[in-house]
Amino acid sequence: MTRLSDYCTESEWAKIKNFSEGKETPFLVVDLDIIKQKYDELMNCFPMAKIHYALKANPGAPVIETLRDMGSNFDIASIFELNKVLDSGVSPDRISYGNTIKKAAHVRYAYERGVRLFATDSKADLQNIGENAPGSKIFVRILVEGGETAEWPLSRKFGCHPDMAIDLLVQAKGLGLVPYGISFHVGSQQRDIAVWDAALSKVKYMFDWMRYEENVELKMINMGGGFPANYISEVNPINVYAEEILRYLHDDYGDELPEIILEPGRSLVGESGVLVSEVVLISRKSRTDLKRWVYVDVGLFQGLIETLGESIKYPLYCEKMDQQGGEKAGSVVLAGPTCDSTDIMYEQVSYALPHNLAVGDRIYWLTTGAYTNSYSSVEFNGFPPLKTYFLP
Ligand SMILES: *Cc1c(COP(=O)(O)O)cnc(C)c1O
Repeated sequence: MTRLSDYCTESEWAKIKNFSEGKETPFLVVDLDIIKQKYDELMNCFPMAKIHYALKANPGAPVIETLRDMGSNFDIASIFELNKVLDSGVSPDRISYGNTIKKAAHVRYAYERGVRLFATDSKADLQNIGENAPGSKIFVRILVEGGETAEWPLSRKFGCHPDMAIDLLVQAKGLGLVPYGISFHVGSQQRDIAVWDAALSKVKYMFDWMRYEENVELKMINMGGGFPANYISEVNPINVYAEEILRYLHDDYGDELPEIILEPGRSLVGESGVLVSEVVLISRKSRTDLKRWVYVDVGLFQGLIETLGESIKYPLYCEKMDQQGGEKAGSVVLAGPTCDSTDIMYEQVSYALPHNLAVGDRIYWLTTGAYTNSYSSVEFNGFPPLKTYFLP
């Protein structure tokens, strides 16, 4: 069972706990102080990097404003995210358009609002950018390995082979664009640091090819996201990621590193959130069934979609875990409140909860600041979207 102290300090817990008292569940509480800490920590680990927060992880206005004040840049995937960031008073030179799939009208809109840094991974998209965002800087996203060791892999949907990426960078110049750099994403919640090494060696090969064969100096490496948040499975701390990744970079480029961009989502905001839920029903499927089914008032459709395939394993806490004085816990299946049979969070992965757990008890889902409220459905079965409170 979860030890709270593995996930937050006593005062952090007290802040969330006090705020949550008496409020109707379910809801997400986001502690903005933790986002500030995580931002500082990442900047200390990568002092030369520019951070472009990947908005989709948690697009709440208070999150944008907090990161804006910390000096962060932003990576957006749609004009709707763009508007949110601009509305928060962030200037367009702090924004990259990182989605490689975009309508011509949206490229034009972003360009008119001042965005000048675009990702691409295909010829058609590149032409689209050339026509609608003339003179902009282009970075090409390459396909990299890492799917097996990421807990939330990004499939082959994005990125292209390095040889094709080189073609695109060459064509960019012909289209009046600036071939600026290369990006990759090794998969979210990436546990194997070595995949950055493999990705960076592809990038180095491309930098050299562009310089010696095409006479183009690339300026920037965008290493994407993938840095971990603290869930149940063990991961290395961020400083270990940084030490290794910086060593790979210095091996390749010596002291003269290119401009480095990071696009963290999960690692910046994941640990800032606690999702507070309540037990609705406890049952067994037969009189002698060892496993209890515990149904709570949140599920895959109110923000826990990353439990799909039991991928992300959130730490769970309930107060009776501490009060038990020796009483044993038993294994449970955890499911949500909707009438959809996929709405089961954990069945194969074994979670244990106290035997005296009762209807009405609160279950706290820790490390739920990323990819929860942004994924919540608008009214499946009539359940409202996940309510989110942001604590200054
Ligand atoms: C989602 C996404 C990120 C954030 O990834 P995390 O693993 O959450 O840090 C970064 N860059 C791009 C292009 C993304 O799509």
